[in-house]
Amino acid sequence: MQKIVTLKPFVHITATAPISVHTHGGRAKCLQRLIRLNLPVPTTVALSFETVTRIAAGQLPSMTSILSEFGSDPLLSVRPSSEDPDWGGPGAILNIGMNWDRHAALSESLGEPAATALYLRFVQAYSVHVARLDPDMFEQPEKVDRKALDRALDTYQDETDDPFPQDPAAQLGEVLRSMARAWGGTTARLLRQAKGAPADAGLGLVVQRMALGVGPGESGAGVIQFVDPATGEPQITGRYRCQSQSRDALKPGKGQVYLTRDERGPSLEEIVPEIFADLCRYGALCREKLREEMQLEFTIEDGNLRILDALRVQRSSRAAVRIAVALADDGIIPQSDALLRIAPRALTEVLHPQIDPTAKRVLATRGIGASPGAARGKIVFSSTAAQASAARDEPCILVRRETAPEDIRGMHAARGILTERGGMTSHAAVIARGLGLPCVVGASSVTISHRSKTLTTAEGKVFAEGDEITIDGGTGEVLAGAVPMLEPALDDSFRSLLSWADAVRDIGIRANADTPADARLARSFAAQGIGLCRTEHMFFEQDRLTVMREMIFAKSAGDRAAALEQLLPMQRADFVELFEIMQGLPVCIRLFDPPLHEFLPTDRSAMRGLAESLDLPIAEITRRVEQLTEFNPMLGMRGVRLGIAMPEIYEMQARAIFEATIEASRNGDPIVPEIMIPLVSANREVELVKTRIDAVAAAVRNERGKPFDYRLGVMGETPRACLRADEIAQHAAFMSFGTNDLTQMTYGLSRDDAGRFMSDYVNQGVFREDPFHMLDVDGVGELLKLGAERARATDPDIVLSICGEHAGNAESIAFCRDVGFDYVSCSPFRVPVVRLAAAHLAL
Ligand code: PEP
Ligand code: MG
Repeated sequence: MQKIVTLKPFVHITATAPISVHTHGGRAKCLQRLIRLNLPVPTTVALSFETVTRIAAGQLPSMTSILSEFGSDPLLSVRPSSEDPDWGGPGAILNIGMNWDRHAALSESLGEPAATALYLRFVQAYSVHVARLDPDMFEQPEKVDRKALDRALDTYQDETDDPFPQDPAAQLGEVLRSMARAWGGTTARLLRQAKGAPADAGLGLVVQRMALGVGPGESGAGVIQFVDPATGEPQITGRYRCQSQSRDALKPGKGQVYLTRDERGPSLEEIVPEIFADLCRYGALCREKLREEMQLEFTIEDGNLRILDALRVQRSSRAAVRIAVALADDGIIPQSDALLRIAPRALTEVLHPQIDPTAKRVLATRGIGASPGAARGKIVFSSTAAQASAARDEPCILVRRETAPEDIRGMHAARGILTERGGMTSHAAVIARGLGLPCVVGASSVTISHRSKTLTTAEGKVFAEGDEITIDGGTGEVLAGAVPMLEPALDDSFRSLLSWADAVRDIGIRANADTPADARLARSFAAQGIGLCRTEHMFFEQDRLTVMREMIFAKSAGDRAAALEQLLPMQRADFVELFEIMQGLPVCIRLFDPPLHEFLPTDRSAMRGLAESLDLPIAEITRRVEQLTEFNPMLGMRGVRLGIAMPEIYEMQARAIFEATIEASRNGDPIVPEIMIPLVSANREVELVKTRIDAVAAAVRNERGKPFDYRLGVMGETPRACLRADEIAQHAAFMSFGTNDLTQMTYGLSRDDAGRFMSDYVNQGVFREDPFHMLDVDGVGELLKLGAERARATDPDIVLSICGEHAGNAESIAFCRDVGFDYVSCSPFRVPVVRLAAAHLAL
């Protein structure tokens, strides 16, 4: 016969009571730990998730049996206890049990004003949070006295047609019911889901005997923590307030006392030194035994210290890193735990640039700094525009009245978010923090018109789409124009954490770096080399652009060679600088890739300028521009196709690389450059290019009388390159998969145009995620696997990697590691994130 087990709907928390985070929530479990550490915690009872679910459904357990746990006539508090404290929950309700009888008794022991204050506070909280009456009617009166209490009780009766409940059991039952139901409400559900809570996340409740912070002797309430939440440095911070309850201590007002000695006023350390010492001892004990920096919520009741609650100290990402590293350094947690405590994406927040404090600032408006870091870019007013801007590689700030879930793709694409409405927990704020994006919300003095695509400040200044602004997600400032930035200061803790990550990870990490600035950043983030230097980016500077255009307009191979001759020293200098910055680390240089028309002007006046500088008739310029224009340029005359059709470009680049190799090798170990051929789809392309580059190498060795080596590789970014990787690998020392183009070609989806319909595709479930953002493991991944297997079948030692944007995405590198790639190469700012993500995968 099946045994029927009836679980008790509540548990009195003792050192040995059966309490778990998964059945009673984090707060209940934490209180049990405090009890085990012998901290003076008032009597507490925990209600399980299951009990709370039942209460929400109308099945209330016996209130008298709960009340009997607390002895006679207790005052109680109820607090939420969800599995993860970050998931929120209904606010605490205090002083349950207050009625006229208790008021009379407490007037005797504490004095009438204290008893009245306790009762009034309960009536206010009960009316607003339990009876759901209008909060405006229960605002804190200027003077707390019998009149104010009577007024509140009358208002309650007028609004509900019932007198204020006097039975403590009825009060407690209603409080529990309202909190249980609040958890199921839409707002609460959406907010916690944005923080990663599962749809069926449970809520536990803890009922605790109140320690009264009002009354005779030293009485009051406070919170104390032992680290600075912004930096993570050891420092006692918090508040204490005499004659107050719970978190009232945090509000400014009468009775405020500093925690530590302070010349501005009295401190807890001086008033009750032994209690202050106990608090410090408890803090240290929690740190050691709970292996976490905790904030203690305490009450002093007539000179007796009570610890009501302990919460993980809220912290910035920077502080989180410092705290985790300090705990590991002190031997409290292993280094592996410190690594796992930091979500890789949290590092993006630490890494964000800040506005240069010496820069000139023109304040446009101000809002709430909701997600740290500064960002600058062109204003866009829609998610579609943000995606289009990202596709053009133009940094943008997404400006919305408020954001909604359908804006998520635009938020991904933007460098920062600015909203007119909303607060710290608005959609924009929550999501931006999750993404590590700088965000300012609630800039309520501006007027945003999505229709006319303008943002108008209170002073009447109008910003249009495309105008540049800078936002500071820390201070909430919005500045006109693109303001100079300071690179983030990366402290010792950050470096320690990442060095531990490097010790455990088992996949290499390089950076995509095109310029000396990128290369320096890559080195400062300890990238193991450059995995992709897109050389075309070196030609966009104005002086080079002109020469580049001369080269494009050359009528003969001889004229082209003459223009290339001018580019050669510039390229050589670029490479020398890169080699010197990278100090012997591998540098993989990709030969010229984009279609030539990208270097040509499109508007009439620029064409006229070009005609003048080349001394050609404008008609000739227009004709050539038209000639070079392609309908689908990403599939046209680009990559290795240019290398085959106009071999002089690659020859010039190879010569620049080799001459730079000799020059930069002079002072140190010999440099072995890596040269990569883009957009390969056939073995013969590699053979042809290789023959020419070998010839250039031989010529340079001959001319300079200096030996050097180089490694030739290919980019696997067409489906055919993956399918024929066995053949292609015969001539390649390495193969780097360009998942941007490979995604484009696998789907037949234009990289530049997909933004227009991507949100429809994701919303309707055609794609689970934007495949240009998250590697499509099922399709593109299959090609990568095939390519890797086939290349390795020909050459087991061939070096395999990816260098598309996906290399910076923590989930996508899990795939790369599974397939056995040697390294991933991502943009410099992603390097630290990927170092940590790779360590997580290996742990
Ligand atoms: C790629 O296609 O993945 C790649 C890295 O090259 P690009 O983005 O320059 O085309
Ligand atoms: Mg590519």
